[in-house]
Amino acid sequence: MSQSESLNPFEIAVKQFNNAAEHLGLDDGLRKVLSAPKRALVVSIPVRMDDGRIEVFEGYRVQHNIARGPAKGGVRYHPDVTLDEVKALASWMTWKCAVVNIPFGGGKGGVICDPSTMSPGEIERLSRRYFSEIMQIVGPEQDIPAPDVNTNPQVMAWFMDTYSMTRGYTALGVVTGKPLAIGGSQGRNEATARGVLFTTIEAMKRLNMNMSGSRVVIQGFGNVGGNSAKLFHEAGAKIIAVSDVGGAIHNPDGIDIPKLFEYVATTRRVTGFSGATAIEPDALLELECDVLIPAALENQITLKNAHRINAKIVAEAANGPTTPDADVILRERGIFNIPDVLCNAGGVTVSYFEWVQGLYSFFWDETMVNQQLEKVMVKAFADVYDAAQKYKVDMRTGAQILAVGRVAEASTTRGLFP
Ligand code: NAD
Repeated sequence: MSQSESLNPFEIAVKQFNNAAEHLGLDDGLRKVLSAPKRALVVSIPVRMDDGRIEVFEGYRVQHNIARGPAKGGVRYHPDVTLDEVKALASWMTWKCAVVNIPFGGGKGGVICDPSTMSPGEIERLSRRYFSEIMQIVGPEQDIPAPDVNTNPQVMAWFMDTYSMTRGYTALGVVTGKPLAIGGSQGRNEATARGVLFTTIEAMKRLNMNMSGSRVVIQGFGNVGGNSAKLFHEAGAKIIAVSDVGGAIHNPDGIDIPKLFEYVATTRRVTGFSGATAIEPDALLELECDVLIPAALENQITLKNAHRINAKIVAEAANGPTTPDADVILRERGIFNIPDVLCNAGGVTVSYFEWVQGLYSFFWDETMVNQQLEKVMVKAFADVYDAAQKYKVDMRTGAQILAVGRVAEASTTRGLFP
């Protein structure tokens, strides 16, 4: 095993793809087609800041593959965004949509910025100008963005409005993750976390584990991490540690999650909460627990800490939290992995429901959304588990084999243009 590892997300994504392609016996030509992004747009985004200065931000929109339908994927605002990261995230979206078998390809967007230092007005101007710059390649039938790290339903509303005002009509289907008032879906906000819960329940069934009383550790307390804490708590699990960008807290008896939410609503951070003690963020990942849920950023479980991970299940709520080298170590140590393309696919699944509801202008209630989501996630888990058993591989490789197989079939059936 190598002692240093590449943390370039796109190299990791290609490595994972090649692993699946090998099992499927795909030919070289098809491998080249399926691993390269179809389209990558780089844009400069000039924004007038509140003090009158003009700042120019760099943004990206990548469409990895659209063989099975329009590109689909979130937009991330973060100082560390790179084109390679967006390319990796776009390719994971292709595989994710194929794993849950929804008729989308993969896309992703990103803007290099630090929204924590920007005013709401600056974020609105950045969002509108970014969307108008990428508008030539997005649209309800082309590419449908959604929220990701540091973007939220309000940003989606600005995206939708910018597109609609430019086109001269209201286009509900151009983005998902919108507020309910303008065509959002019931249940979208918690959908990713609900998918994490459904897939973890399925894993527990296979491993003869119980949700009730299980000890859960969560890294990240945003949309996915925070909602996972809420839903796992409601399902009877004990959340023994959580973290956000500011630090980590721990209570072996279980954190009072409703109280933590009240605390975070006023302080915007988890640290300082009186019902738990502070621990080092790195130590959080190594706590003994039943389920570890990384729900922040990629490359959190690496060669450096994989041998100290002390969980029975790693439920990958974040995209790309485990490096390929760390994957090998976790597998050797018998830790059950629910790979990101399966574990966090609840978000894109309800995004698909939102897109369908918008195009039909017929909206479902939350019970219907959650039932349909459960059906999709339980089936996807079973499909991945069966593929892993059939090919005698781990769950990530099983998911990749399933997804790459479906996209390869769509690509070869359509044929090579011209
Ligand atoms: P978010 O911006 O709502 O939350 C991110 C959280 O991570 C915040 O609490 C932040 O403080 C925390 N964080 C950042 N750096 C950290 C660090 N070094 N250590 C600990 N915590 C840290 O973002 P989100 O939408 O919850 O996305 C989280 C992850 O889930 C990302 O990998 C994203 O791609 C993935 N994801 C999100 C969705 C979705 O529907 N939002 C869907 C699928 C996958």
